[in-house]
Amino acid sequence: MGSITIERVSRRFGSTVAVDDVSLTVDDGDFLVLLGPSGCGKSTLLRMLAGLLPTTEGRFLVDGLDVSHQHARHRDLAMVFQSYALYPHLSVASNLAFPLRARRMAKGATREHVARVAELLEIGHLLDRKPKQLSGGQRQRVAVGRALVREPKAFLMDEPLSNLDAKLRTATRHELVDLHRRLGATFIYVTHDQVEAMTMATKIAVLNGGRLEQVGTPLDVYAKPASVFVAGFLGSPPMNLVDVSVTSERGIVRVIGDGIAADLWAGATPPIDAVLGLRPEHLLIDGVGPVQLDLVVETVERLGHENLLFCTFGEGRRSAVLRTPADVAIVEGQALRAGAAIEHLHLFDRASGRRLE
Ligand code: ATP
Repeated sequence: MGSITIERVSRRFGSTVAVDDVSLTVDDGDFLVLLGPSGCGKSTLLRMLAGLLPTTEGRFLVDGLDVSHQHARHRDLAMVFQSYALYPHLSVASNLAFPLRARRMAKGATREHVARVAELLEIGHLLDRKPKQLSGGQRQRVAVGRALVREPKAFLMDEPLSNLDAKLRTATRHELVDLHRRLGATFIYVTHDQVEAMTMATKIAVLNGGRLEQVGTPLDVYAKPASVFVAGFLGSPPMNLVDVSVTSERGIVRVIGDGIAADLWAGATPPIDAVLGLRPEHLLIDGVGPVQLDLVVETVERLGHENLLFCTFGEGRRSAVLRTPADVAIVEGQALRAGAAIEHLHLFDRASGRRLE
């Protein structure tokens, strides 16, 4: 078991509010990714949960028990530090045994524990090696193994892949997903990298300025961002976001803006300042749908497998990006019309930034 409840947790450093009233439930076996830009408070939240930093307000429950006042050692949560946190002069076996020796476990029992964990992580053949004789992924496994021998309720990781080069990062990412699947344990993982979040998480919690913006499965958060911030943060290139007004006329809800006039659906709404969001892959050349943009292609980025069209539209020459297959011939300066289907429109209240609907 390893369910974790974060209840109205805040942390201030002087006048800086690093974490602002965050509540979140992590179910047993979840791979929760805390995602957000630098300075959004994700490390602070993780360190408070680990017991490495006191909270200003709020509490943490592990399997229903309040651990807020417990010392880090007694919380049964294992922080997995980056791979370089292995002791370089010790063998893999000694690195794995280290936490058990610190607990004064008997030699025989320690050996048994280490062997079991090594088997589980498939690193039995590496036990005599030193960390520098391992690949990045193997080092990561040993680091997890060192946490695993303590049989924690959950693994906490803070940007564990940030020191690895791109290729190793991808391989290690796959290893971590596989490991999570095999262990069935609860993982809480901090990153600012949306690809890591999208590919590894069972649930993503997006933080911004210390506040929790949204929690959901990766696909939910991508398909239905709860705020303008989440809409702009997830996706590469990011979602096109344009200021519009939402009004209703003769029983039809409409969006109107510079270069945009679209009838959406039957209904009535008081006029509201809004932000219209359209993902680059949902704006289709000659596409059918209520939103139609007359675009001028300013720049084409040819990526090999696809093209990105950086376009302008409207009197204010506002920008929009389209993603097209590589074999669609488009040149700079070309005029084209693009449309988006109604199910691919995102509308947000401009004042609060929250999703409308
Ligand atoms: P990064 O991805 O850059 O590590 P983060 O999202 O993990 O960022 P935190 O490290 O949690 O962000 O920091 C959140 C905010 O709290 C930042 O504004 C940071 O400057 C501030 N902060 C963090 N630790 C301290 C500290 N010990 N003293 C003062 N301010 C701090």
